Amino acid sequence: MRIYSHYIDGHETDGSQAQASLPIFNPANGEEQARVALASKADTERAIDSAKQAFDAWSKVSPLNRARVLFRFKALVEAHMDELAELICLQHGKVLEDARGELVRGLEVVEFACGIPHLLKGEHTEQVGTGVDAWSINQPLGVVAGISPFNFPVMVPMWMFPIAIACGNTFVMKPSEKNPAPVLRIAELLTQAGLPDGVFNVINGDKLAVDTLLCHQDVQAISFVGSTPVAEYIYSKASAHGKRVQALGGAKNHMLLMPDADLELASNALMGAAYGSAGERCMAISVVLAVADVADALIEKLQPKIAALKVGNGLEPGMEMGPLISRAHLDKVCSYIDSGIQQGAVCLVDGRNTLADSEGFFLGATLFDGVTPEMQIYREEIFGPVLCIVRVADYDSALALINQHEFGNGTAIFTQSGELARDFCHSVQVGMVGVNVPIPVPMAFHSFGGWKRSLFGPLHMHGPDGVRFYTRRKAVTARWPKQLSADFIMPTMK
Ligand code: NAD
Repeated sequence: MRIYSHYIDGHETDGSQAQASLPIFNPANGEEQARVALASKADTERAIDSAKQAFDAWSKVSPLNRARVLFRFKALVEAHMDELAELICLQHGKVLEDARGELVRGLEVVEFACGIPHLLKGEHTEQVGTGVDAWSINQPLGVVAGISPFNFPVMVPMWMFPIAIACGNTFVMKPSEKNPAPVLRIAELLTQAGLPDGVFNVINGDKLAVDTLLCHQDVQAISFVGSTPVAEYIYSKASAHGKRVQALGGAKNHMLLMPDADLELASNALMGAAYGSAGERCMAISVVLAVADVADALIEKLQPKIAALKVGNGLEPGMEMGPLISRAHLDKVCSYIDSGIQQGAVCLVDGRNTLADSEGFFLGATLFDGVTPEMQIYREEIFGPVLCIVRVADYDSALALINQHEFGNGTAIFTQSGELARDFCHSVQVGMVGVNVPIPVPMAFHSFGGWKRSLFGPLHMHGPDGVRFYTRRKAVTARWPKQLSADFIMPTMK
């Protein structure tokens, strides 16, 4: 059986030598398809050391030549799109077209990073004082590390490493132990594109590997994406070890549905946003706040669409929703359905009846009505294909609910009123907002990040914030005087 191992110094290490490993399941049939080696402390230190050795030479490569490696990498990913999409399907379970979409969204960050010569430009002021010039420069940090979740095995790592290495840093990636194959293939393609050995390394593993990255003195910055409890842990531990940290956490994304919205458009948007990728997206809509009397009409629109949803193996043509990632996660999502019913919500569609005989980790689309803010299914992130309808009296009470929720990743308003939409964009306490757009993931040249307990740290991911995160500024003040006299007062510009 294939044992996926680590990618250090330009090649994959021998997985058969690993002291510990975990199974990787095919979520579509429940079978163990491979194993993943778990890095020891020494393995992780070797990857950090490889990145450290590569840093000096890589940081001196001109930004233009660093960008040229990324141009070649982009072309290689495009040439291997089908192979990569299949790998994602096999280890994650999402449907093939969705996996392609993930790759395209990741490549957009590579395209953005190809503009690094422009993005790294500093500011220059001639004559800040008489005969004195000043400028700023943006320099790389050194070795930086990324830790990613299972739900976007390629896109989330691509939020991080293209910009990091374009800025001149070297990288250690720790992908999810549930689906490591796509990132290992990405590492090979980077090498093939001409990236020097050691600039991009992959460590597979669990808490031991992560803790080694968080505490190691040669790691300068940590980018994390995953659940909120782990994000909080990463943020506090890495910060305590003096590192720059951006830690993106969980979500509970609301759609605010006004009675004037186009319900055909809104219900189609909801189908994709709630059930696409089996709801395993941090930007999935999991709550609809149905204002006034719009809920009944919405349910009428949704029910036939849910009945027609094609659930099955993501590799089969025409499928719209695949399985969940693991048996344990399936059980957890099912326990939320139990909890919703026990706490008095009305389960209009129970997805537990879909493909119930399959050995795969399937759960059909589930729809709850009559959900109230006290219920567990409203308060907690479910991360599955479960959509909750909360009936609210008016716009103000809907807005207040969103603003009171502990998470603030994404949200959307569906309305025909420009005035209301404008107020919503201004007033809502959430990091990413859609107006008639259900999943408002910013494009690569903007930055991605939530508010409240959906993000820890000041900077969002990719876009301008990505460049800021992976560089540090230096300000230079220079003059070429003929003579200098001793000055004992605080210097001021003349
Ligand atoms: P997770 O938090 O379980 O794992 C994320 C990463 O952290 C993995 O690489 C894992 O190995 C590591 N990890 C897990 N437990 C750890 C621990 N105790 N100590 C150190 N490292 C640990 O998340 P997941 O289940 O892989 O992904 C789903 C979660 O990610 C959801 O909560 C989802 O909302 C979130 N997510 C957020 C965003 C965002 O942009 N905010 C994007 C994608 C996913």
